[in-house]
Amino acid sequence: MGSETHQLHALFFPFMAHGHMIPMIDIARIFSVRGLKSTIITTPQHATNITSKICRYQNSGLDIKIITIPFPSEEFGLPKGCESVDSIPSRDMLFNFFDAVAKLQLEFERILEEIHPDCIVSDMFLPWTNDVACKHGTPRIIFHGTSFFSLCVANVTREYSVYESEGETFLLPGLPDEIKMKKSMLPSHLGSKDRFGEMMDRIRDTEVTSYGVLVNSFYELEPAYADHYRNVLGRRAWHIGPVSLSNNNIIDKAQRGKKAGIDEHYCLNWLNSKEKDSVIYVSFGSVSRFSCVQLTEIAHGLEASAVSFIWVVRQLKDEEDNFLPEGFEERIHGRGLVIKDWAPQVLILDHPAIGGFVTHCGWNSILEGVSAGVPMITWPLFAEQFYNEALITQVMNIGMKVGVERWSDWTEQGHVLVTKETVKKVVNQLMATEEGEEIRNRARMLKGLARKAVKEDGSSFTDLTRLIEELHHAATIGH
Ligand code: UDP
Repeated sequence: MGSETHQLHALFFPFMAHGHMIPMIDIARIFSVRGLKSTIITTPQHATNITSKICRYQNSGLDIKIITIPFPSEEFGLPKGCESVDSIPSRDMLFNFFDAVAKLQLEFERILEEIHPDCIVSDMFLPWTNDVACKHGTPRIIFHGTSFFSLCVANVTREYSVYESEGETFLLPGLPDEIKMKKSMLPSHLGSKDRFGEMMDRIRDTEVTSYGVLVNSFYELEPAYADHYRNVLGRRAWHIGPVSLSNNNIIDKAQRGKKAGIDEHYCLNWLNSKEKDSVIYVSFGSVSRFSCVQLTEIAHGLEASAVSFIWVVRQLKDEEDNFLPEGFEERIHGRGLVIKDWAPQVLILDHPAIGGFVTHCGWNSILEGVSAGVPMITWPLFAEQFYNEALITQVMNIGMKVGVERWSDWTEQGHVLVTKETVKKVVNQLMATEEGEEIRNRARMLKGLARKAVKEDGSSFTDLTRLIEELHHAATIGH
């Protein structure tokens, strides 16, 4: 093998969490659109979720397929069928899940030996794929699923002892902008090196030892941080996003992740009945769950705001379905839509009636909001979400904070973090003030840049071309 006419074969191995799986499926498709053969390794439940999508891609002529491998949930003490982070029963079982994931190494190696791909694109949470790739001389590209900004911040918080600085608020040193954060917003594993912290250290190390890093972002969104990551931190990186923009029809936009708790046409008709920029979309990603008390506060706050809304609700397991205030559904009939468990998010965000997004600041959600030109209300919870909030509110200026300041170490939020009064106030501030309109105008401008980036000759399109050329070269010289 090894000429420019050789069809490159990319092997994708996403982590089993919707926020990691969804963008990687988009990436596999984008690679195939650019002429590569894409093979996706995943476990039975995720394979079921994506099969119809992959069949559609195949029918449109793309060279893309799935290889399904069993997931040893029960062997590691997890409930049968627990194949995704959002179905782990409790925090205590997090490492049962990671241990089960690590067990996939043998099967991964067997597949690698069988199909001899030209490159591996694997998730950050599968650092052992790097060892296997090195052993076989195959370039491994790491996918974190986050922004350049948060990759830069994560590096700062690892290198500098922010906990030793005085006071609660600190300035992140060595970044292109003066970014202020509070210590309470930092992940707990930074302060005390627990098992999760050790795993994150290993992941950060593979950032350097991998072939490079694939970033779901676009240059014009965070140019200073794209440059900083490459030129100051010295990482080899390619930006190819927003990858969600590869979904450009109703079915593709609606069928991402799980089956939605609402018919997409009903949802579109509902939105069609609303004025431009008049509806706020409220969603907290694929894994976080609030307690009934917090959900009740949100319900009261949204009702009192008098703004139209779509609210996606996932609650703590085992709690009674009684979080909605008495008579709520009748009172908000026509003005509010409550979607249980899973919404067709990209379809909703792209609708002209959506004028704001209350988000937990997961990177996919942010980028989908940016791609739709929608301003945000930031309500970060865990992972790198406080870093993303800082990017939105301190660098890009396309959002307002709800005011949460404490990082949580798990996806379940058992108490009231934000009161109904605050929900009402901040929703009205974004949807019905001049300040909100200024933020909206900036968000709209970014929408144009996002769409340009993925078009032919746009910055993301070109960076992917650069990567493909490098991979051709690597294949030519036999890696
Ligand atoms: N998502 C969706 N419907 C939902 C919840 C989430 O389609 O009801 C999608 C969302 O569009 C995004 C992903 O799931 O692509 C969530 O990723 P994100 O990084 O925003 O947050 P995470 O779930 O990883 O916390």
